[in-house]
Order: sequence, then structure tokens, then C-alpha cells
Amino acid sequence: MSSTHGAVFVDRDGTLNVDVDYLSSPGALEVFPQVPEAVFRLNRSGLKVILVTNQSGIARGLLSFEDLDAIHQKLQADLTRSHAWLDDVLCCPHHPADGCRCRKPGPGMIEQATSRHAIDVSTSYVVGDQSHDVELANRVGAKGILVMTGPRSRESLAVCQTKRVVIDCVAPDFADAVSWILRDWTNSSPAGPR
Ligand SMILES: [Mg+2]
Ligand SMILES: [Zn+2]
Repeated sequence: MSSTHGAVFVDRDGTLNVDVDYLSSPGALEVFPQVPEAVFRLNRSGLKVILVTNQSGIARGLLSFEDLDAIHQKLQADLTRSHAWLDDVLCCPHHPADGCRCRKPGPGMIEQATSRHAIDVSTSYVVGDQSHDVELANRVGAKGILVMTGPRSRESLAVCQTKRVVIDCVAPDFADAVSWILRDWTNSSPAGPR
């Protein structure tokens, strides 16, 4: 038995919920309808589900850490209704100009996650609606899935092609991404789903 887990690193805005620029209150959080059930399918499979989100609105003074906590409590509550959960929530609060290590596509949030959980990144996935999500997957050696539910998904597809970022799967939405991940994981992991 392996003591490490595969994980799915999940972007938030444009992937789990409607991307409104700089979401700052829980009342404005609109989770896509297919998401809670899809997260639950990942939970049941034994893959860890870890939110990794760039929130430069904090550095820009557009929301506080308390606002962010309230939004993530609302997100967890929406998931709980389908018995789904996030195993961890990681956020980069910095400004792009700060040059931090955690802002995607920097690997900092995945490094934080692996320091907290026994994760095998090489059997893990990153799902997001922007090129930096897939670029992060390429950098850490995970598989990258681009979902088309974000306002910049189409542009991101072109950016990935231009920058030679390898996309393992282009999925119409998060539920399709999860279906692909579970098929891929069953086929490629010796442990397989639990
Ligand atoms: Mg996004
Ligand atoms: Zn950061």
C-alpha cells in the first residue's frame, strides 16, 4: 500500500464558480450546479481535493482575509449539501508585482500542500480555466486540465499553444474534467481508486 495520495489541485474562479472579477462577498459566490456532485466523486475516489487560488484582490485592498474566509465557508457549505468537501484551501494573496513563489504558475501552493499532506504530485492533477493553471501542472509534473467555463478559457487555450504548455485534457466543464481524471487515474495508477 502506498502511503502517498494523488491529489486534484482545483482552481476556484471560472472553474468551481462563476468568475466575477475580485469576488469579495459570499453572497456573490455562484457555484456551478454540477460542481458539488463532481467534487464528491473525487472525494469518494480517494484523491485529495485541494483548492489553489490566486487572490491578488487582497494585495490590491479589494477584499480582506476575513472576506476570503467567509467566501470559502460558503463554498464549503454549498459542497456539504452534496456531502462533498475540500481537503485543504490554499491561497496566494500577493500582487503579481510582488514576485512571490505562490502565485500561479509558481509552485508555492503545491509545495505548501505537499508539506501538509502525503501527496504524490506525479500522480496528481491541476484543473483550471486559465493558462497559468495548466502551466503550473507542467512545472510540477502533474497532469493539466483546462476547463472552458471561465471568461478567459478560450484565450488561455491559445496562450497554451503559443507558449507550448502541454494540456492533457480540455474539458467543457468541471464535471467532465472529473470524469476524465477518474478514467485516467484508474488506467494509470497501480493503486487505482479505492
Ligand atoms: Mg480561474
Ligand atoms: Zn503569493
